[in-house]
Amino acid sequence: MEIHTKTKTVNNINIPEQFLKLYPHDACLYENRPEGELNLIEIEKLTEERLEVLMIIKGANDKGFAYTSDEWKKYILEMLTNGNHVDYVRLLYHPDFKLTNEDIRRRRKDVLSHYILVLAFCQEEEKRSWFTQLEVDMFRLKFLHLTDTGIKEFIKINGIGLTIISKDDKNKYREDLLNCTPRLNASNFDSTDFYKVPFKSAPELLHDLSCFVRRGFMYVPHFDAIRILENVFKEHLTSRLLYFSEALKLYCDSRLAPIIKRMSNSSSKITEYNPVVNAGSVSLTSLDSLSQTSFPLCTRNLYEALQRFHHLKYNGRQLLQLFLKGIGLSVQDALEFFRSEFTKVIDSNKFDKEYTYSIRHNYGLEGSKIDYNPPSCINVMNTSPPNQGEYHGCPFRLWDAPMLKKRLAGLGISNQGVIEITDLAKAGHAQIACSKFFEHTHGGTQAAINHPNQFFEESRKYYLSKEQQSQPGTSK
Ligand code: SF4
Repeated sequence: MEIHTKTKTVNNINIPEQFLKLYPHDACLYENRPEGELNLIEIEKLTEERLEVLMIIKGANDKGFAYTSDEWKKYILEMLTNGNHVDYVRLLYHPDFKLTNEDIRRRRKDVLSHYILVLAFCQEEEKRSWFTQLEVDMFRLKFLHLTDTGIKEFIKINGIGLTIISKDDKNKYREDLLNCTPRLNASNFDSTDFYKVPFKSAPELLHDLSCFVRRGFMYVPHFDAIRILENVFKEHLTSRLLYFSEALKLYCDSRLAPIIKRMSNSSSKITEYNPVVNAGSVSLTSLDSLSQTSFPLCTRNLYEALQRFHHLKYNGRQLLQLFLKGIGLSVQDALEFFRSEFTKVIDSNKFDKEYTYSIRHNYGLEGSKIDYNPPSCINVMNTSPPNQGEYHGCPFRLWDAPMLKKRLAGLGISNQGVIEITDLAKAGHAQIACSKFFEHTHGGTQAAINHPNQFFEESRKYYLSKEQQSQPGTSK
C-alpha cells in the first residue's frame, strides 16, 4: 500500500491526511474515487467479498422477508457472520464516523470494491439495474443503524442541501405537521427536526401521504431523512454507472481488465432470476384484478389485447402463457382461460386442435416435456418486433413517446412521473423506465426490474405488506 508522508494525529493515531478527507464516514455516496496502491490479488479478493455480500442481501430479498424488517436484517446479519464478513458486519450494522486506522481501512475497502463492481456491472442495463438496487439496499441497511448524529454528520460531510426549518416555522405549522406525519406526536414533536425539500425529493412519502406538503415543498421529519438520502444515493450511482459504461469503451487499464471481466461474468449469479413457480397459487378468478395491480406493462398489454380481440398471435401467446405459468396459474386454469377468450371468435374444436397442445407443451406436458421458464425482459426485448395485429414486446422499448405518455397518464401516473418514465424510455433505459413505472404504481417502492415475473412478485410483496400494515394492531 502506498505510504503517505503527510499525516494528522487523530485520537493519538497518525492517519494520512488524504485518507481523512476521502473516508470520513462509514456511509458515503462513493463520490471520491479510491486512491493509493493495492495489489491486484487484494483488489480481486475485496471485490469478490463485496459480490458475496450483495448476494446475501439479494438472498434476503428473494426469501420474501419484508424489506428492512427485523427478519430481513437478522437474516443478513446471520449470513454475514457465518461467512466471516466481519468488516461488513461492522460497516452495515455499526456504522459511525470515527477516524481510526481501522475505520479508514474498512471504508477504503468498501469504496474500492464498490468501484470495481461499478466497472463490472456498468455495461449492461440489466446488470446496472440489479447492482443499483442491491447497493441501495446496502446503503439503506447502513442508515437503519446510524445514530441521529451520524445521519446529520453524513448530510454535512456530503454537502447535501437539506435545511432544517426554523423553530418559528415549525411552530407555525405544528398542527399540520402533527396531522400529516405518521410516528410524530406531541411527545416527540419538539425533539424532531424537519427538512424542507422540493416535493420530488422523496416521491414515496408523497405517495404514502406521510408528510406535510405546502406550496411544492415537503416537510420531512429527520427520522424519514433516509427516504431523501436514498434517492440522492441512487441518482449518484445511476450517473456513475452510465459515465463508466461510456468511459470503459474508450479505456480500461489492462491490469484491471481480467478482474473486471471475471467479476462481470460472476455478476450473472446476481442478475439471474428464477421465478418461484407454485402451480395453482393464482386462481382464474383473480386474474382480472391482478392484471391491473401487478402485471408489468408488457403482459398487461397482452392481457388486455386478448380480452379485446379474443386472440393473440404466436409471440404474444407464448409470452402471456409462460408469464401466467410463472405466476402460478395451473395448466387447467390456463386452458380454461385461453379457451374462454378464443372461443368467442372460433369454435371449441378448432381451439382444441390448434391451441391446447402448445399450452400443455409450455407446461412441459407434451413433446420434449421441457419445463420452460417465462422469458426475461431481455428475451422479451429480443423477440422480433410486433407486426400489425401483434401486441408482444416491451412497451418501454417499442412505443413512441406520445403513445407511452398517453398510456401512463391513463393509468393515473402523475405528470411528473409520466415525464420521468418517458424520458428514461426515450434515452434507451427500458428496464429503468419499467422500474420507475413500478415505483410510481407501488407507493414509491423501488425495485430493479429485469423480468416480468419478478415485477409481479415484487408487486405481490408490496400488496401483502400493505395488507399486513393495515391489519388492526400492526405497528408501523
Ligand atoms: Fe416487461 Fe421487462 Fe419491459 Fe417491464 S422492462 S415492460 S417487465 S419487458
